[in-house]
Amino acid sequence: MQNTAKAKVIVFANQKGGVAKTTTTLNLAVAFAEKGYRVLCVDMDPQGNLTMSQGIDPDGLSESMFDVLVHDLPIVNVIRKREIDIACASIDLAGAEIAMSMKIGRERSLEKAFRPIIHDYDFICIDTPPSLGLLTINALTAASKVIVPVQCEYLSMRGLIQLQNTLHMIRENLNPDVEIEGILPTLMDSRTLHAKEAIEILEENFGDRVFASRIKKTVRFAEAPVKGMSVLKYEPDGMAARSYRDLAKEVLSHGIR
Ligand code: ADP
Ligand code: MG
Repeated sequence: MQNTAKAKVIVFANQKGGVAKTTTTLNLAVAFAEKGYRVLCVDMDPQGNLTMSQGIDPDGLSESMFDVLVHDLPIVNVIRKREIDIACASIDLAGAEIAMSMKIGRERSLEKAFRPIIHDYDFICIDTPPSLGLLTINALTAASKVIVPVQCEYLSMRGLIQLQNTLHMIRENLNPDVEIEGILPTLMDSRTLHAKEAIEILEENFGDRVFASRIKKTVRFAEAPVKGMSVLKYEPDGMAARSYRDLAKEVLSHGIR
């Protein structure tokens, strides 16, 4: 059967580290897959945390996203089938920004890599490194939607302005259609007043672009990747799994698919 619809490409971005980008990429992707959607995750972080979180050792890879971006290797060559399909990364990706800098169309390497597979998936979910460099720019250029995980604390708000400026530049120059799908409060300790106040500030500034879904703090999110699993597989009926299923529902309710 010929599939005519193109995958919706969602990038998970925030130049701050430790805000649950990787966790959200994997667990939302698995929540989509549970609903029967065909999902590809793409690891664009040289740290390879997303790759590891599906039980794959980045150091054991002979080919990875580096080769896709720098040497135009077909992306299918670096896709492994786990809970979802995953295009793997390893530490050599750290050299990709310099290696790509001389390429014509260096911002579009990822978008180009997606062309042969864009009809094979319903969702492509891209994890990004904690920076707004060329790897993240490639992801934002290839995407139609951005989900921004934000840790519930005052300081994390400031980085959002910088991310918005980058998005503005991407829209002006590379990808006019990319937009923020939503801002996701993560690592939330609902017992503290600080977390509540931080969310109020977020909502004052970003209004209904802040998801109604909240991701609470639990050690399950640290335990699951060690086993090479999403939290949906690790503890299917747990609060952590439910929170990402709720997020999937909320994203789908926006009519994204
Ligand atoms: P990023 O990709 O933005 O750097 P990660 O997804 O790697 O962030 O998350 C940072 C750390 O926080 C990881 O150790 C992860 O297991 C943990 N973590 C993520 N989400 C939660 C959560 N809701 N509660 C507790 N720990 C979390
Ligand atoms: Mg990460």
